[in-house]
Parts: sequence; structure tokens; C-alpha cells
Amino acid sequence: TVRTRIAPSPTGDPHVGTAYIALFNQCFARQHGGQFILRIEDTDQVRSSAESEKQILDSLRWLGLEWDEGPDVGGPHGPYRQSERSAIYVEHSETLIRSGHAFRCFCTPERLDALRAEQMANKQTPGYDGHCLTLPNAEVEQRAKSGEPHVVRMKVPTEGVCVVKDMLRGDIEIPWEQVDMQVLMKADGLPTYHLANVVDDHLMGITHVLRGEEWINSAPKHMLLYQYFGWDMPELCHMPLLRNPDKSKLSKRKNPTSITFYERMGYLPKALLNYLGRMGWSMPDEREQFTLDEMVEHFDIQRVSLGGPIFDVEKLAWLNGMWIRELSEQDFVNAVQAWALNAEYLRPLVPLVQARVETFSDLLPLAGFFLTGKVDPTPALFEHKKLSNDEVRKVMQLLLWKLEALRQWDKDNITATIQRVAESQELKLRDLMPLLFAAITGQASSVSVLDAMAHLGPDLSRFRLRQALE
Ligand code: ATP
Ligand code: GLU
Repeated sequence: TVRTRIAPSPTGDPHVGTAYIALFNQCFARQHGGQFILRIEDTDQVRSSAESEKQILDSLRWLGLEWDEGPDVGGPHGPYRQSERSAIYVEHSETLIRSGHAFRCFCTPERLDALRAEQMANKQTPGYDGHCLTLPNAEVEQRAKSGEPHVVRMKVPTEGVCVVKDMLRGDIEIPWEQVDMQVLMKADGLPTYHLANVVDDHLMGITHVLRGEEWINSAPKHMLLYQYFGWDMPELCHMPLLRNPDKSKLSKRKNPTSITFYERMGYLPKALLNYLGRMGWSMPDEREQFTLDEMVEHFDIQRVSLGGPIFDVEKLAWLNGMWIRELSEQDFVNAVQAWALNAEYLRPLVPLVQARVETFSDLLPLAGFFLTGKVDPTPALFEHKKLSNDEVRKVMQLLLWKLEALRQWDKDNITATIQRVAESQELKLRDLMPLLFAAITGQASSVSVLDAMAHLGPDLSRFRLRQALE
């Protein structure tokens, strides 16, 4: 039977691209009466977080996607979280070393940096030079036993051309000399994406891998690993990446990319899912509005077109409006209730507002900006005691750039970032506060703006800063 999977890495906000790939995997599996699996790829311990995992699962489920097996629903091929499968990867890496398909590499980061610099200077493709390939076995064993830090790398042919089959693109040829001797196990004993991904796809019985086209260059490594293990390789299908209206790869600098943003803006999950289904795909009759069930009924992966699909928020809003107008009055009320009175969203706001209201009718004037998309600050709110209008723009732009680069979005990090921007302009944190109040809340003062930004999340906060700059 057909088995597909989505394999998100919990390293940030739930990305609309993840939902898009998940949707196509689910449709493909359902169309064939197969199963759709969710696996968490959290082998990057530094960047992965339990909170990000929860947000990914919550937002995929909010959209109405349903997996048959996964970390939260269980299943016969678990655990479905790679951090709980370490022993499996160690065992498989040892197998490859024993069969001569992988080798231990003791090169220090300094040596590898120097090698890279030299290759760049000589305009060569950077890559491992095979230094540890020729170490005598006895020496390797002895150094590994004595606990010397090392990684495990896969062997890769140096000549010839690798041919990867893709369900949409046919044969893709990649010369082996462009393929690096990929690290499979890191010095911390954890696997890289490549080893863990191949081992798990095999052990979880995955038959078709539908994923973003950014992974095409990894396919030769994966193909080799399947050969080395003596396993059948799943069919590969690389989906075109979502793009900004200017055709560049969808990026949070130009467009909100987090599913949470679209949820907070009040999009209907079925409308967003419908729109994602329009990304590179169309119904046989070209109709724009369709449900998930209708998409499954008419699904055909060969209808995916490779020209980069454009994720256009205005088009999405238009489609959402169509869905909204179709709601019955009762469904409309239910949907608004679920959106506005979401306990999980409202609960953390209580400490911010409780002491500042006398009646509930004070709530919306004080904190209504938590429920709106755009806010509408008057220009007067950006007039500053110490700064000219040009300087205000400059510092706001700087704030936006620094906040775009912030990886871990919480109050402490937001505060530290703003503090650094202030210092770089020889200002105090409190000098920037009125500007932030204006941009984020649309008001001159309100509840703590730092708490508000933390709660609104990165996409909505940046969206409002961008609006203020327009
Ligand atoms: P950055 O904004 O730093 O370039 P990113 O946009 O690639 O990062 P990630 O956090 O690296 O975002 O990616 C999260 C998930 O979203 C990954 O699974 C990735 O494959 C997917 N993804 C990212 N960009 C796109 C895109 N344009 N189209 C489809 N999927 C995407
Ligand atoms: N963990 C990878 C990601 O975040 C999975 C890629 C794949 O599907 O092979 O996109």
C-alpha cells in the first residue's frame, strides 16, 4: 500500500510551505487508499524545540489535515520523533562502516575550514577531500576507542553521473563529483538529516516521498544509502517551492509565512487549505474553490505544474471571502467564536489586562489590537521628542531588520534586540517605546508592548512594523 509522510523539523514557526507539502502527501495517500504519516525530524538539538513541534502539530490539525501515524497518535512504526530513535541510527551507521560504505573521519573543524578556504580561493567546489579515507584500520579503531572526537561520512563515487528518477521531472542527472562525502553521524553521536531520513523512510515503510524541490540535490546521497543498505528506494517527487509575487522564494521578509499568522488574521482553515491546493495544482475543470474531499477525489500528481506557484495574500483573501460568504449564519457565528474566543490565545492576555479594566466593555478599546490584523496609528503618534521624522524611519527600519533575524521569539530576546538597536543609535530602550506602541498597538499607550509583541508572534509583529513604514 501507498505510504507517504511529512517530516517537519521543529525549528521555528509552522510554515505554510510545510502545510502545502503535507496537503499533497495526504491527498496522494488518500487517493490510493494508503496512509499518511507525520514524523518529527529533530536531530538538530540546538535549533529544535518542543514548543515549535507543538505549534506545527496544532496548526496542521487546525487546517484539517489528518495523519494516520505520528508522535501524538502513535502507530506501529514508532517512535515518530527522531530524537527518540538514536540507537537505531548508531546501529545503521555501524552497519555501513562494517560493509565499507562509510568511514570515520577525525578531521578537526580547523582543518576543514582551512580546506574550504583553499578550495574557495582556487574556485573549486568545496567538499571533503577524502583525507581520512586511507587511514589504516587499526589506527582508526584505536583512535575511536580512545574517545577521539570524530564523525562518520559516507563514501561517494568520484566519477560518473548519478541518475535520479523524479515523478514529475523524469530523470535528473547529477555528476557524482558534485556530491560531497556527506557526514552521516555528527561528533555528538546524533545522525544528520540524510541518514535519519533514509533509515526512517525505510523502517516506516514509506513508498512515495513528496517533498520540496530544495531536496533534489540530496537525492543522490539518499539513492546511494538505499543501495548500500540493500533497500528499495521510495519513488521521489519534488514539489515546486512557493514563491513571493516577485517570483523569489517565499520568505518571511516579504510575506508572512507562518500558519499561525493566517489563523490570527481570521482566515478560515478550509480556505487556506483550498488555496494551498491551488499551488501548482488545479482541478480538472479549473474551478478555484474546492474542499479537501473534492481535491482528494480528483487528485492526480501529474497535474502538478513545475512553474513556481505564487503565494499571493490578496488572492488568498479573495478566496477566503468566497468561503465566508457561503457560511450559514450559525456557522458564521461559530467560526467567529472559535477564532475570537480561543482560550489558548486569550488566557495569557489576562494578566496584561485584568488590573486595567473596570468592565468587560473596556477590553476592546484597551486590547482590541490583539484581535485585529492591521492597526491604524495616526502619523502624529510617530512624532518623537529626540528624533526627526527621517531618524524615526531609520530606527524603525533597523528594528524591523533586527527582529526579522531573531530566531527565538520571546520577551527577553525581543527586549534585548530592541535594546541593542537603541544603543547602536545612542538612545535608551524607553526612547523607542512610543514608536513601538504606535506601530504594534496603533495607540499611544496600552498594555506592555513587549508582552504584546511576544504574544502576537513574529509574523504579526513584523507585519505591523512593515505597515508603519509604508
Ligand atoms: P528562511 O526564511 O530562513 O530562508 P525558510 O523560509 O526556508 O527559512 P525554514 O524554517 O527553513 O524556512 O523552513 C521550514 C519548512 O518550510 C521546511 O520544511 C521547508 O521545506 C518549508 N519551506 C520553506 N520555504 C518554502 C517554500 N518557499 N515553499 C515550500 N516550502 C517551504
Ligand atoms: N526535515 C526535512 C524538512 O524539514 C524533511 C525533508 C524531506 O521531506 O525529506 O523539510
